[in-house]
Amino acid sequence: MQGFFYKVSSAMARFMYGRNGTDQLNWAILVVYLILWVLRTVVSLLQVPFAATVIDVVMLLLAIALLWRTFSRNLPKRRAENQKFVNWWWPIKSRFSAAKARRADKEHKYFTCKNCKTICRVPVGKGKIVITCPKCGHQIEGRS
Ligand SMILES: [Zn+2]
Repeated sequence: MQGFFYKVSSAMARFMYGRNGTDQLNWAILVVYLILWVLRTVVSLLQVPFAATVIDVVMLLLAIALLWRTFSRNLPKRRAENQKFVNWWWPIKSRFSAAKARRADKEHKYFTCKNCKTICRVPVGKGKIVITCPKCGHQIEGRS
């Protein structure tokens, strides 16, 4: 049995050699696919007309894209696609994690400047205050 699994795994390794395999973009496609799969279940329960068909088509396209990208031998092209995706996703992701960190921070209160959208941090418990935006000098009134 052990020999069998070894043969299968080395055959797989040989098959995947020189192919793209899993990258961040493929993970993202998989996540979107799973979200749609859940959505598809909800939609069919609610019997929304056309929605199920649309989701089916999108899911099929995603599955094709995922398989295509996984087994593709055109590595420079796949890496370029992945890089494009990472460049797009990274700022979104860091904005999310920054928001999460701000929520977890109980020592400070955060104000967003209405003028330039800079986030200003002040210690909690100062009462009513006027914050001057360090970037544009706009004044924000708040309570901390
Ligand atoms: Zn400002």
